Amino acid sequence: MGKLVVILGSTGSGKGVLIQHIREVRPDFLYPRSCTTREMRAGEIDGDQYFFLAKEEFERRIAAGDFLEWAHFGENLYGSLKSEILLPLQEGKTLLLELDVQGVRSLQKMIPSEQIITIFVDAGSWAELERRVRARAPISDSELAKRKKRYEDEVTFKDEATHVVVNATGKLDEAKREIDAIINAL
Ligand code: 5GP
Repeated sequence: MGKLVVILGSTGSGKGVLIQHIREVRPDFLYPRSCTTREMRAGEIDGDQYFFLAKEEFERRIAAGDFLEWAHFGENLYGSLKSEILLPLQEGKTLLLELDVQGVRSLQKMIPSEQIITIFVDAGSWAELERRVRARAPISDSELAKRKKRYEDEVTFKDEATHVVVNATGKLDEAKREIDAIINAL
């Protein structure tokens, strides 16, 4: 029986660094690519973590039934592809996905609960997260307000997650050890 490991957590939670860590220590897991309509960031490669699609193409693929789930996140659309997930899951592989709360809730309706492991990366209060986000790059008040709203949405999942990994400032190594313990016991 295959497994879907889903990582959640708001921007600034350090989720990306922990996912990178898992990629390094578990090359045997699969890392399915998602589709998104957001702009590519510097250093990103199309088809590596995401397929970058125009909105019309994304909508065409929704209509074609290509997505297992899709969601609006901020101004953009994100979706995971059936073609990247269903067959490997049937073959018994372990797959790691990064989804927002809407995405996980949709998957939970489609995939048996024994096959979904959710890991919520908890970086503490909004005040702490705001400090981190501001330290990373300049940010406008309206963008910050959007992040706060997303933080509030994401945090609603914390009590439902299979595991909560605390990623406090300056404690990244501990968070990595906690992640290792979880993924090595799957
Ligand atoms: P970013 O734009 O920073 O790469 O991703 C923003 C957020 O989009 C991620 O933190 C994750 O919560 C969400 N996301 C990424 N891929 C998917 C996907 O395939 N489906 C859903 N529902 N959310 C996704």
